[in-house]
Amino acid sequence: MSDAQGVRTLAARELELIRTEFAFPLRERIVTNNAASTQPPLALFALLRDVSETYENVHRGQSDASIRTTEMFEASFDTIATWINAPSRRTLSMHRSTTEAINSVMYSLMADFRDGDNVVTTLMEHNSNYVPWHALCREILPRFGRSVQCRLARFDHETGELDLAHLASLVDERTKLVCCTGGSNFLGTKPPLDAVRAIASASGYRRPDGTRGSLLLVDAAQRFASSRVDVEALDADFLAFSFHKLLAPFGVGILYAKESLRESMPPFLYGGDMIAEGQVYPDRVEYNELPWKFSAGTPNILGVIASAQALRLLVDLVGADPGRAWFRTDDALAPEAVDEAMSTVAAHAGFLTQRAMEGLSAIDGLHVYGPPLGAERTPLVAFNVRGHSPFDIARALNAQGVESRAGCHCATLAHHELGIEPAASCRVSFTVYNTREDVDLAVAAVRRAVASPEAFRQAPPADVLRDPAPLA
Ligand code: PMP
Repeated sequence: MSDAQGVRTLAARELELIRTEFAFPLRERIVTNNAASTQPPLALFALLRDVSETYENVHRGQSDASIRTTEMFEASFDTIATWINAPSRRTLSMHRSTTEAINSVMYSLMADFRDGDNVVTTLMEHNSNYVPWHALCREILPRFGRSVQCRLARFDHETGELDLAHLASLVDERTKLVCCTGGSNFLGTKPPLDAVRAIASASGYRRPDGTRGSLLLVDAAQRFASSRVDVEALDADFLAFSFHKLLAPFGVGILYAKESLRESMPPFLYGGDMIAEGQVYPDRVEYNELPWKFSAGTPNILGVIASAQALRLLVDLVGADPGRAWFRTDDALAPEAVDEAMSTVAAHAGFLTQRAMEGLSAIDGLHVYGPPLGAERTPLVAFNVRGHSPFDIARALNAQGVESRAGCHCATLAHHELGIEPAASCRVSFTVYNTREDVDLAVAAVRRAVASPEAFRQAPPADVLRDPAPLA
């Protein structure tokens, strides 16, 4: 099936088949907290079990097992590079999370900041893309006698749009770095990154290599999970994301950095495997070639393999070509297959999000934050209901089997900026395996939570952790 724009959409039967790949439907869980983490397909655990038969460290052995594990590990870098249209694996480093990936930029660039420089970020960032810069400017660099400002661009309180004029007014010839979210995990806003790039490029900042312009770091944690990310088109200098938001198990985040930066930047961590073989002396150390210069210590080998294979499995699950299987292979992934898969995910999750917005907005006293109905947003809806605690609503949803999240979602600055007191909202969020029934059940559950809050105060949570029905 295709929509009016020719994007493949998922038929009900296809969605049913996709859901058979996961454990949560058997437990009758209504998983609508996908902006935090998605559910992993069962096939990934089967893959890990099989990989464990040739379990070995990478780059650290001559056995067949080590060689095979190294091949799978390295091929994973290529899969991920293709996924984000990076020119090669040399641009990638593996981390524990988006948070660690962004922190690694902070530590690698730290010594380069000159007295009087500044960093510009926004009030809609996740704390991962604000607190490191706050700490750098307020706590770390002052200890070295350097004064660097952290500046925050505003957003429109009604529409959630990034205030580009304000951003442009903050960026000047002392702006070393502009840090911007690719998609807010609270407002749902997707800032126009081309405009942000243009503002950063035009700053006039003099880089160490003599070229002009500020660096751009994109926090793509939400954007990567819900649409195609193309680092070449974005012209991002750095881009960070995590795989636990796109079907993989926890524990792997990625930092993309332009190859020229990778060459010139100091490593983030120092130790084994990031040094050139044999090139360590009392007075001199040579670093390994890219990308291993940024891979100190034994990496999360199984996590990286599972993450890359999760992408392949996603293409198989939503792809238009049932005869082509990418999962469990190391074949060079076709960029068109990635485009198509992520367009399908974006269209499907986008449709569900609009449906949720329509249903929720009709509830008396309920206010949805961020872009209005019909406008593009990441597939999440955060809201508050007048007179009701978002935590009570989330607990009432849980009692009805609907998994949501209440809190500030680590978008603390944005909650303060909007004057939300306490700084919290309730959020539902969608991905490829959600159905329109999930949305309708979530909306109905919010309606009931608001209509009779006392009914849920004492209610035990829905018993989704019991033994599930046996696999058919
Ligand atoms: N940035 C955004 C926009 C996010 O949504 C998240 C996860 N909530 C993060 C950063 C942090 O990701 P991680 O927990 O994988 O470090």
